[in-house]
Formats: sequence, C-alpha cells, structure tokens
Amino acid sequence: MNEAVETTVIGSYPVSLNTLKMMDDYSNGVLPSWNPYIKHAVSSMSDAGIDLISDGQTRDPFINIFARGFQGCRIRSRAEVIGPVDLVKPITKNDLTYVSSIIPKDKKILGLLVGPCTLSESVVDYFYNDKKELAFAFANALKKELRIIEPLVDMISIDEPFFSNIYPEYAKELISKVLDGVSCRTRMHVCGDVSSIVQDIVDFPVDILSHEFKATPTLFDVFSEHPSDIGICLGCVRSDRKEIEPVSEIITHIEKGKQVFDSKLKQLAPDCGLRMLPEKNALSKLRNLVSAKEKIYG
Ligand SMILES: [Zn+2]
Repeated sequence: MNEAVETTVIGSYPVSLNTLKMMDDYSNGVLPSWNPYIKHAVSSMSDAGIDLISDGQTRDPFINIFARGFQGCRIRSRAEVIGPVDLVKPITKNDLTYVSSIIPKDKKILGLLVGPCTLSESVVDYFYNDKKELAFAFANALKKELRIIEPLVDMISIDEPFFSNIYPEYAKELISKVLDGVSCRTRMHVCGDVSSIVQDIVDFPVDILSHEFKATPTLFDVFSEHPSDIGICLGCVRSDRKEIEPVSEIITHIEKGKQVFDSKLKQLAPDCGLRMLPEKNALSKLRNLVSAKEKIYG
C-alpha cells in the first residue's frame, strides 16, 4: 500500500460570477473582489475531501491570468504580445496568499503556472516574430513568478496542454529553464493523447507527470513501454463530460493505475481542469474520486 497517494486537482474550478453585485460595486466605486469566488472554489475542493488544492484559477481563463499580468502583453480579443515579455509584479501571489489564509490546516496548496510553450502558441505575437525567442521570454518571466510563489505552495504544476499537439525540439530546455533551482515539488500536466512524446517527457526534470488517463486509457500501455522512475498523477474522471463516474468505476481505474505504476502512482485527480463543467457535476466528480481513493487506500 502506498500511503503517500494524494487527491488533487489539475487547476480550474467552475466559477459562477455574481455580475449584478460586481456592476453594483463598480457603480459605487468599489473594486470587485475575487476573494469570495476563490473562497468558494477552495471550500468546495476542501469539503469534497481533496488533499492538494488550487486557487481554482478563478480570476480568468488560464492563458489570460498570465497574459494579463506580464509586462509586454495585453488582452484584446486575444492575448497579444506587444513588447519585451517580463514579470514586473507578482501575478498569482495575492490569490495564493489568500488561499493560505483560509485553507484548513490539513490541506496543501497547489500553485499553477501555464507553460511557456502554451503561452507562446496562444498569443498573437507583434513583437518577437520568433516562436522560440518568445517561448524563452515567457519561460524567463514564469521563472520569476515561480521564485515569488514557491514559498506559498506545497507543489507547483506547470501546465502545457499544447505539448500533445505542438512539441518543439526545445521543450525540455524550456521546462528546465522555468523550474531550474525550484525547491518545492513539481508536476507537469499535459492534456490529450501524449503517446508520441511519452518517451521524451519521462526524462523531464519534474517529480510528477499528469495526464488524461480516463479519456485516453491507451496511455497505460504507452507508459508501460517506457518505464521510468517519474511519479504519476492519474486522471481518474473526465473533465469534458458531465456524466458523473460512479465510485466503483473510479476504483477499477485506480486499480489499473496501481497495477501499471505501483509506487510511482502519487496523485489521483480529474483528467483536466473542471472550469467548463456545471459546478454540481464537478463537485460530485471530486467527491466520488475521494470516496474511491478512501475505499482503496483507507
Ligand atoms: Zn489538461
């Protein structure tokens, strides 16, 4: 039995904005606060029994959180790069500080970074006109953000959803650049079918790889063909479907994960962020995930 297995999330949680209150506050000269939404996301994940909790990526869709915060970027209809990318003030520090002030003592905090490749592929670039140069500029800025937030978190997850489709030859160098010298635990999350890159990413300088094993169960076989010592965060429930997986189905899935990864199975999570699901479905999925873990590990 591996007692170190923890339940966690990938990042985002559904957010239902009270737009009437925000407009009311705005007309009264009160800056809208995201804290009630962060508190709701944190409380929901915590109440569901999740061990390692994020801030819910409440403030913005995940690309915009960083594109809005970096110098050299701006948000129009899409995120745009209009000058040298740099970090001049912390982006997620305030939200994580707030999380640390409200989180129950027995819970841990997951910090989230959107990876430099995904950022460089998601923005409209009017400045660098060189994808690699842009990606490394993002990596440098993300490294500065990481230095600021690592004292606040138990683990940092660098999320590179695009790697399953766009995998540059400098992918490992990019991730290494961001994480060089990091002192907390690290994870890399990549969405989709990562079959074609598994042989590469098992050597990445992270503690844990996180993938959508529920939507792409063929990954079990692919990882079996490329054994390594890297830890695994097992996607156990779909984040792209409303249907709530019964506990028995999740147990079967985790047992398969144990069979393939043995003590390298470190985390149990949804396949991806839950932002697009109705909240009651997201919450039920987290509760069932925790129930399944408790039935297996006690
Ligand atoms: Zn994902």
